[in-house]
Amino acid sequence: MREKERSPKTEQPPRIDRRVFIMRSSLGALGAGLALGKFGSNLAHAALRPENQAGDSTTTPPLPAVGPGGMRYRTLGRTNLRVAEVSYGAIAVSDPAVIAFAIDQGVNYIDTARSYIGGQGEITVGKALKGKRDKVYLVTKWNRRGGLSKEAIRKQTEESLKALQTDYVDILMCHGVSASEHFHSEDVLETMMTLRKEGKTRFLGVSCHSGNLVELMKEVIDKGHYDVILCKYNFAGHPGFGDLVALAQKKNVGFVAMKTLGGAKREGIEAIPGQTFRQAALKWVLSNPGVSNLIVTMKTFDDVRELCAVAGQQFTKEDQEVLRRYLAQQSHEMCRFCDTCAGVCPYGVEISNILRYRMYFKYYAMEKHAMGLYGELLPAKTVITCAGCSAPCEAVCPYGLAVRTKLREAHELLMLA
Ligand code: SF4
Ligand code: SF4
Repeated sequence: MREKERSPKTEQPPRIDRRVFIMRSSLGALGAGLALGKFGSNLAHAALRPENQAGDSTTTPPLPAVGPGGMRYRTLGRTNLRVAEVSYGAIAVSDPAVIAFAIDQGVNYIDTARSYIGGQGEITVGKALKGKRDKVYLVTKWNRRGGLSKEAIRKQTEESLKALQTDYVDILMCHGVSASEHFHSEDVLETMMTLRKEGKTRFLGVSCHSGNLVELMKEVIDKGHYDVILCKYNFAGHPGFGDLVALAQKKNVGFVAMKTLGGAKREGIEAIPGQTFRQAALKWVLSNPGVSNLIVTMKTFDDVRELCAVAGQQFTKEDQEVLRRYLAQQSHEMCRFCDTCAGVCPYGVEISNILRYRMYFKYYAMEKHAMGLYGELLPAKTVITCAGCSAPCEAVCPYGLAVRTKLREAHELLMLA
C-alpha cells in the first residue's frame, strides 16, 4: 500500500493518525574543460548538459502541481511523498522565521541533521515548526562519528526528536556514509528497521558525499533497504552521476540532490540580467527529471525568494552560459570531492573532507559548523603534516588543484577561535 498522492489543493502533507502512519510505514518498508585540468576541454562543457534528459516514461514522476509561491512538486520515489522541487537544507540556519517563510512559499521538505552546528540546526528547525509540523516532511540524520552501535543510533535519533519537538520524522537517514558498514551492518539495519516499526520515522535514507559515492549509492539502491538517497549533484560533478540518478529513478528510490551550487563562490561571476548564478545552478539540477528534489540552505528571506523562484523553470542557454563562465573562472578553486586523491597521502590526511569544511567556511558562511567538523578530526588527520611534504596529492588531482595551499588555508580558517 502506498500513501495516496495528494491533489494540488492538498499539496501540503496531511497530518496522519499515528496508528495509520505506523501501519503505512511498515507496509511501505516491505514493499571541467576549458583547459581546466587533466580531464581536458570536453569535461566542463559536457558537465553543463543535464544528464538523462529523456528519462523513462514508466518511472518519470507525474507533472508537478503548482503550490504557494509558484512552488512545484515531484514524487519522492516509492515513498510517494510529493516534495517541493526546491527544499530546505537546514544546516547553518539561525532564524526560525526564515524557515517559516520558506514554508509559506510552498517548501514542504526540511532536511537537517543531529550534527549540524552541534545540534543547533535541529533546535532552530524545531522552533520554526511550532504549529507547522503538519505542513512539512521532516528529515534528520544520525552521524556515524557518534558510533554505529544500536544504542548510539537510537540515542542520536531520540535526541533529534527532542530537539525537533516532534515524535517522528518522515525520513531518518544514515549521515555521510563512506563505507558499506555505515548503512548495511547488521546493527545499523536492525536499528533503522526497529525505529521505523516504532513510528519514530516513516521512511529510511542514506546520505553521502564521499568520492566513492556512486558505488556506495548503487549498493544502497540494489539492496533495497532504503527509500531515499541524498547525494551531492551539481553541474561540476564527475562521470557516473547521471547513471546513478537514472538507476534510482528506475528502482523508484527517491534521489535528493545536495551541494547543488558547486562550491557557491559567487564573487566575480558576471550574471546575466534577470538571472543569478545560483538560479542557473539549481535549474541545471532540476532539469534532470530523475531528481526528486534538491535541498539548499536559505539563510535569509532574500535567499528564499531568489532560490524558490527556480521551481518549474526551464534550464536555458543563458543558464548554460552563466555556468560556463563560472567553471572558466572557478575550476581551479573547486574541489569536486571526487576522492581521486584518497589514499595517496602518506599521513592519511582527510583531504576532500577538509576541503569541504573549507568550502562551508569560506563560501557557505557556515563558519561555526565547519570549525566544529574540523575539530572532530584526529590531529594526525589534519594538515599539520603537510609542511615539507612533496604533495603527491596534487599530482593526482585531475582538476589541477593546488591542494596543499588550499589545505593550509583551510587549517588557518578552521582553527580560528
Ligand atoms: S601535502 Fe599534505 S595532504 Fe598532500 S600528501 Fe602531503 S601531507 Fe598529505
Ligand atoms: S583535491 Fe582534487 S582529487 Fe582530491 S577530492 Fe578534490 S578534486 Fe578530487
